[in-house]
Amino acid sequence: MFDRLGYTLVRCKDCGLVFVNPQSPSSETERIYDQEYFAKRDIGGASVDMTTIRSFRRLSAAQHLDDIAKSQQPPGRLLDVGCAEGFFLEVAKASGWECWGVEVSEFAAEVANGSNVGCIFEGKLRDAAYPDG
Ligand SMILES: [Zn+2]
Repeated sequence: MFDRLGYTLVRCKDCGLVFVNPQSPSSETERIYDQEYFAKRDIGGASVDMTTIRSFRRLSAAQHLDDIAKSQQPPGRLLDVGCAEGFFLEVAKASGWECWGVEVSEFAAEVANGSNVGCIFEGKLRDAAYPDG
């Protein structure tokens, strides 16, 4: 457990996932993920250009898809909750997945929709009201 930027972060003993606990209220989440959040482009504190960001995100996405491939291979449907500008879905689509995304940021959701990476819902997962499966 450690604190960062006023939030308490904890690590799951089973899988290593680090997450904010307790969760912030949804009103704060929407405030955090405004356009300014996405405009701040840095990796490890160093400002980098958009081409570098995209390369980094694609590499990261490929690694996540490799992990997913251990239990599930395309074709199939893939839902990215908090898809941001759709970098992960862009790589997933190229790998043969039918891509769906949910994003609370209007700015990021519009970028993802404009990238034609899949079906992007702007809002919260519960409001997307996807059918089972
Ligand atoms: Zn876990």
